[in-house]
Amino acid sequence: MSLLEIKGLEAKVAGVGGREILKGVDLTINAGEVHAIMGKNGSGKSTLAQVLMGKESYEVTSGSVTYQNKDLLEMDTEERAREGIFLAFQYPVEIPGVSTSYFLRAAVNETRKHRGQPILDAKDFLKLVKDKQTLLKIDSSFMNRAINEGFSGGEKKRNEVFQMAVCDPIFCIMDETDSGLDIDALKVVAQGANTLRRPDRGILIVTHYQRLLDYIKPDYVHVMMDGRIVKTGGPELAHELEELGYDPIEKQLAGA
Ligand code: ADP
Ligand code: MG
Repeated sequence: MSLLEIKGLEAKVAGVGGREILKGVDLTINAGEVHAIMGKNGSGKSTLAQVLMGKESYEVTSGSVTYQNKDLLEMDTEERAREGIFLAFQYPVEIPGVSTSYFLRAAVNETRKHRGQPILDAKDFLKLVKDKQTLLKIDSSFMNRAINEGFSGGEKKRNEVFQMAVCDPIFCIMDETDSGLDIDALKVVAQGANTLRRPDRGILIVTHYQRLLDYIKPDYVHVMMDGRIVKTGGPELAHELEELGYDPIEKQLAGA
């Protein structure tokens, strides 16, 4: 059984006359698999990530998304989160006045309640976050600071992967988690993401650089162009794109 099955997904910017962005996306992700979507800026990668999370500024006009045998498009964003979907944003937001620790414990306990697991008290919660902090080289003072407030770009990205690790999701989406990172931060983020690989979990990595894929080896690489997945291959496809760019694929499509 597939974890996530996207069929003919079309979406546009919500509102009258909103621009069409996704023009028929087909993608199946099984538990245990890591998929990467690559593509030029503006090809619709972030829109796909946001639509999967249920962002209201996009309207699905056609197609279906089945997640764990349920109709994902019927769920609101909160339900999707409770059902184990986690999106690490391309541009993490700062939330002044809400401490990371408060926010994360609430998020973790919300999911645990939904799964019928006992909620964590402050002590158990700290135990849980400690390992992940070490893993992602997160300074423990982060927990007492407002979410992402005053964090550098690299710190925000590490913090996103840290939050992802703590929340124990079933389906992870990472949108350009590598952009703006120096090589050391990139390795830390990749290492964190690698530890998320699990037989019962699916991971979708959105990126337009192949360098992250040097550290996280995807099972499948997809190329997105103008709102569609136009090519799928193994990890070698990422190297091919690095070397030759998107031109050969564009030409091939134009000639077809
Ligand atoms: P990618 O992540 O692949 O760079 P995006 O999904 O962010 O691409 O965007 C795809 C295209 O849709 C871009 O041309 C972008 O400007 C446009 N777009 C995305 N969201 C909106 C929006 N809310 N309103 C208007 N245009 C949008
Ligand atoms: Mg994007």
